[in-house]
Amino acid sequence: MKIIVARSVGFCSGVSRAVTGLLRVLENRGTTYCLGEIIHNPQVVNELKTRGMIVVTRVGDVPEGGRFIIRSHGLPLDIISEAKERSLQIFDFTCPKVKKIHTLVSRLIDDGYFCYIAGNPHHPEVQAILSLTGSNGIVVEQEADAVIKPHGGRGALVVQTTFNPHRFREIAGKLILLSKETLVCNTLCEETLKRQKETAELAEKTDLVVVVGGKKSSNTKTLYQIALEHTEAAHVETPDGLDASLFVGRKRVGVVSGASTPRKTVQEVKERIESIAKSLSRV
Ligand code: SF4
Repeated sequence: MKIIVARSVGFCSGVSRAVTGLLRVLENRGTTYCLGEIIHNPQVVNELKTRGMIVVTRVGDVPEGGRFIIRSHGLPLDIISEAKERSLQIFDFTCPKVKKIHTLVSRLIDDGYFCYIAGNPHHPEVQAILSLTGSNGIVVEQEADAVIKPHGGRGALVVQTTFNPHRFREIAGKLILLSKETLVCNTLCEETLKRQKETAELAEKTDLVVVVGGKKSSNTKTLYQIALEHTEAAHVETPDGLDASLFVGRKRVGVVSGASTPRKTVQEVKERIESIAKSLSRV
């Protein structure tokens, strides 16, 4: 069995920046609070907890003046205001690519545009972007939900960095047809797009793709869907999720990873597949 690992695996630049930054704060200053999990990877989150990160579900649970990080997805304006009111020491690790969307959306709103955000309404990145639109923005998750909102100005569309590009294209197409003028801003993350392209290419030439990443990770789930469009696929968080029966009769197996999966976990998955391959060859 040949095992081919994609070129782009391990943390993306935004996740790497947030995790490295948090580790520095934990090491130099001690206990630090995070609203929700810093990344969608339970193994990394548990490791950071052992080093002093405390995950809270409300800003109100952070003691006055405590250290508080903004994760790579960013945070809605009202939560940042609440953190400031509680005099928290804020360490902002919002990914620069997400920050760019914040700047763009603020400018569009100032210029009188109504903002459509293609994305998952429950995703924290989308909620943070929506908070910048006041009452002049909505989230559109699928083509069927794309309707033009009555608004004096023009419409503009942005997209969640890790959203499915095909769905973004469908939503953009519908809004363009429904309106006289819609400004379409492609704010998809190039690093995510590169992983998606590599996944499709790998899936074309293998008979199974193993996608390594958190079960709640949006970008990992998209990679899994893309792999499934071309071949068989399995989504695992760690090597323990691999079942030997999955590899019976396989000749070429691809391995890809989500943006919040450490390179070390990908290597462990590869080694487990190699060991399964060896034991199958002896049968
Ligand atoms: S996937 Fe892209 S936008 Fe999201 S954190 Fe990583 S680099 Fe930033």
